[in-house]
Amino acid sequence: MTDLTLIPATQAQLPADPFKGRHLIDGAWTDSADGATSERYSPAHKVLVSVAAKGGTAETEAAISAARRAFDNGNWSRSSGQDRATLLLKVADLIARDIDRIALIETLESGKPISQAKAEIEIAIDLWRYAASLARTMSGESHNSLGPDMLGLVLKEPIGVAGIICPWNFPFLIVSQKLPFALAAGCTAVVKPSELTPSSTVILGELLVEAGLPTGVVNIVLGYGDPVGAMLSTHRDVDMVSFTGSTAVGKRIVAAASDTLKKVSLELGGKNPQVIFPDADLDQAADAITFGVYFNAGECCNSGSRIIVHEDVAEELVEKVVALSRKVPFGDPLDPRTQVGAIISTDHLDKIDGYVQEAAKSGAGIALGGGALRIDGLDGQFYQPTVVTGVTPDMPIALDEVFGPVLSVLTFKTADEAIALANSASYGLSAGVWSRDVSTCLDFARRVEAGTVWSNTWMDGYAELPFGGVKQSGQGRELGRYGLEEFLEAKTVQLRIGDTRAKWVAE
Ligand code: NAD
Repeated sequence: MTDLTLIPATQAQLPADPFKGRHLIDGAWTDSADGATSERYSPAHKVLVSVAAKGGTAETEAAISAARRAFDNGNWSRSSGQDRATLLLKVADLIARDIDRIALIETLESGKPISQAKAEIEIAIDLWRYAASLARTMSGESHNSLGPDMLGLVLKEPIGVAGIICPWNFPFLIVSQKLPFALAAGCTAVVKPSELTPSSTVILGELLVEAGLPTGVVNIVLGYGDPVGAMLSTHRDVDMVSFTGSTAVGKRIVAAASDTLKKVSLELGGKNPQVIFPDADLDQAADAITFGVYFNAGECCNSGSRIIVHEDVAEELVEKVVALSRKVPFGDPLDPRTQVGAIISTDHLDKIDGYVQEAAKSGAGIALGGGALRIDGLDGQFYQPTVVTGVTPDMPIALDEVFGPVLSVLTFKTADEAIALANSASYGLSAGVWSRDVSTCLDFARRVEAGTVWSNTWMDGYAELPFGGVKQSGQGRELGRYGLEEFLEAKTVQLRIGDTRAKWVAE
């Protein structure tokens, strides 16, 4: 442990008072009717950093009905793309103005490094700007080939009230992968951030109000999955649910939504393979693997934590990854040098460690790490950078989402075996391939079961490119024009021209 790069507690000032979060319902900031609140302690410092109102059925009902009224009055849903774009651009500018305060509360609530919180918010700003461009350019279809007396139109209309349910690992980024697209489409929304990281979404609400968004278009209810998220999933006035979170909760939402048959779009977990062929640039691969496994402390749906490496280069690759792992700065997330911060909760840390210890008992080797990490001057929970070798395909660590800074290394002999291993998990979010041969990369890209494939890179993202999963990683897509389509409904209009309709009833 001593040969790791550790960043001790900084002198950075923690805020004197906890952030106070309230619901935004019908344009008003409100506490819960029963006064209930929930407290959040920083995972790194164990200091009270926020106190948020804890919503119940009354607040959720009020927020849904405000969003319904705001949709039905047409002030937003029938506004011009130009007006919507102007507002979204204004919000982007306000986020940019307030990036430091958003990043600070994000770091304090989640334990992620301050530099990465800022980077996450910069990406979010780009998404608000990109969605503004979609608001102005979205269009339907016209069909002029249906014969001389018929014109067909496909109108794209906002789906209605969107329930937006977000996780704790990228709170500001994920709400920004959904909300600006919903707003660009003309939807109104009820947003529920994670109970662990509510405050950056509250700040976003403040900025939406400041930007002049009409009352009731965006409502924010703070609180837990039950009852807030569950009510959004069942309520007849919510027309769709856009959810990011665990596969287990995603399944519950689909079941809950079945009675109203509302649309459900799901961004769920992943167990993302990276296949390294023997001709790969191993230095590049090792660096990207290190990034892919430790970024956000591995609490990342796109964690590239399942390495499937050709047996001829496995030892060399593992040596390189272990050497790089020792150089990655783990520690106080408030220090700008830190690249890996705290784990979200002690329960989650125990779950991560459980996977590692179980693998070790089943015969896997621990090339690095394998336990909790002490950071000087901090009481919070941290986990060591961990590399587990000799993992076999049936081990839980090879198949389940560990969601921690833990790399599992499996080996292969043939390309077919590598593809079979890559496809063996129930997830299908993203996958990577490392080879200097473009045919090898393309063959992998076409055969792997994943929503995104990275070839000789890992975890690049662009507003223009759709993102989402197959199999148990989800349904639907975010980003790109696909991200807008999720919030649109197609309406077919058939226009007969002139008095040419053949009579059905004989005269
Ligand atoms: P989670 O599923 O526990 O919670 C997500 C949200 O759902 C929270 O707001 C929670 O309060 C709410 N919720 C809980 N129970 C609910 C219910 N019955 N009905 C409605 N809502 C309910 O997930 P988490 O622990 O916050 O986040 C981690 C998970 O999110 C991981 O599995 C990760 O892979 C996934 N994730 C996926 C993506 C992606 O884009 N695919 C991105 C980030 C995170």
